[in-house]
Amino acid sequence: ANMSHEIRTPLNAIVGFSNLLVETNDPDEKEEYTRIINNNNELLLKLISDILDLSKIESGSVKLKYEDFDLSGYFDELAVSMKQRITNPDVNLVIVNRYDKCLVCLDKNRVAQILTNYMINAIKYTVKGTIEMGYDATKSGIYFYVKDSGIGIPAERVATIFQRFGKINDFVQGTGLGLTLCRMLVEKMGGRIWLRSQEGKGSRFYFTLPLIRQ
Ligand code: ADP
Repeated sequence: ANMSHEIRTPLNAIVGFSNLLVETNDPDEKEEYTRIINNNNELLLKLISDILDLSKIESGSVKLKYEDFDLSGYFDELAVSMKQRITNPDVNLVIVNRYDKCLVCLDKNRVAQILTNYMINAIKYTVKGTIEMGYDATKSGIYFYVKDSGIGIPAERVATIFQRFGKINDFVQGTGLGLTLCRMLVEKMGGRIWLRSQEGKGSRFYFTLPLIRQ
């Protein structure tokens, strides 16, 4: 029920504004309708691909690709691409990589997928201040985090944020599925996922991954 509502909303906007676009000759209106259509196209595309990813994980058909690699070098590469995503000059990115070398056996792409989701959210909900991305190697596994000084999450919503369509701000573009995907991936890899947040002060999202393959 949730999904059909979430899919219909952008689809209706695309159909409705496409019709209006055909009918108007006013250049400003044309531009505005095109912008709305493009936004909803992107939203729908992200929504469908998140839903497909979710159902793939649920049906057990997602195969993890564990490989040996140097997490320190990979983390630095990820940091470069994250830096490019921050266009707001009032937001400062801090990368914490304490290791020259950190050999691990993990699914690289999944690590990147989860960190990217965390970072996209941190960027989306932080208008000013600092975003920090880091990791630590412990005896039992790797501990990753993304901290931000953004809008934070109300205490009563923290518990449901990893559930499907756990959106708080309907006015901010998003599917409410990104963190659900993160949770399912982390659980599949035998790790733990959690967050701490204070409304108005910022959020800290964490996940751990064991180094012993599940
Ligand atoms: P979305 O695609 O809507 O961002 P997510 O599952 O990634 O979906 O996040 C769910 C909700 O959690 C978001 O809609 C937002 O309200 C809240 N949220 C996630 N990350 C943050 C953050 N860093 N700061 C504040 N709110 C956040």
